[in-house]
Amino acid sequence: MNIYITSIGSSIDNYNKTIKNKVNLNNINKYYEIKDKSLKDFHIWGIPSLNNYNFYKNDILIFVNKNFIISYGTIYESFNSNELSNELWNDVDENKDFSKIILIDNLINSNFSIFNFNKIVKYGSGYRVRKFSKLNNEAAKEFIDKFLLIDEDFQKIIESRFGNNYLESRLYYEVTDKKVLTKIRLEQYQLRKNLFKDLNHQKCCICNKTFPVDFLIASHIKDRKDCILEERNDLYRIVAPMCVFGCDFLYGQKMIYVNIDGKVKINFNNLMTDSIKEYMLTIEDNIVENYKISKNYFDFQSEQIKIHK
Ligand SMILES: [Zn+2]
Repeated sequence: MNIYITSIGSSIDNYNKTIKNKVNLNNINKYYEIKDKSLKDFHIWGIPSLNNYNFYKNDILIFVNKNFIISYGTIYESFNSNELSNELWNDVDENKDFSKIILIDNLINSNFSIFNFNKIVKYGSGYRVRKFSKLNNEAAKEFIDKFLLIDEDFQKIIESRFGNNYLESRLYYEVTDKKVLTKIRLEQYQLRKNLFKDLNHQKCCICNKTFPVDFLIASHIKDRKDCILEERNDLYRIVAPMCVFGCDFLYGQKMIYVNIDGKVKINFNNLMTDSIKEYMLTIEDNIVENYKISKNYFDFQSEQIKIHK
């Protein structure tokens, strides 16, 4: 996967016209036939035809403006067309050659500073992006490994390109105090991804009701703060789906737990009120399907309740 970077500079009008706003496929098809008819429009960028880069599908193109990465996108295809270049940009930039056309099918907005970009790709702090260029292999690798810790949209791109295993192998790439926040975000993303896969709906393991996954939390069965690194990395067993309609919160507050029969039990602590009890009685003794695979974590948590009683 190659990574290209370009400064928009004086071409901001062109950027607004064909990157910020997409170009309809019909306009493109007049000059170049896109085979996949399911696609409707593209973000388009053009560079001088003397550039002899070979672009491949899913290469990344980063746009920089005034010392910030303002967006980046995945390249779909590239071709040469003077005519399309003239049609798109000639009124803005007369007589300039932008005939090497780059189609971008997925654009993500960003506001990542070039100062930080230089740090993660190990360029000198004075490096400024000027003309269209390709990151060398080492810088590209650094960018991929570090930027995916920061940017969730980029994680999705990397995952679709290299698969989940690659992403997981980078999960604990580097743990330093400053990076804890982004690590946790990446971890939550991974946990949800494992738990909910690409499903739209799933069952809450406590009340056994089915919800859209947006209403479910990948809840830590054993409190995250009590988990050692291996347990936090035990992506398939350390969490279970619990709903936002009460189950996740009750479990987090240790007002419910799962006993060794794999059943939901109530812990009558000092937060208890009649209306909470009313809800509890609807879930008490429910069978928790996740108990089987996550037994040691559920057991740990119910032990904690006994200890602190
Ligand atoms: Zn529930």
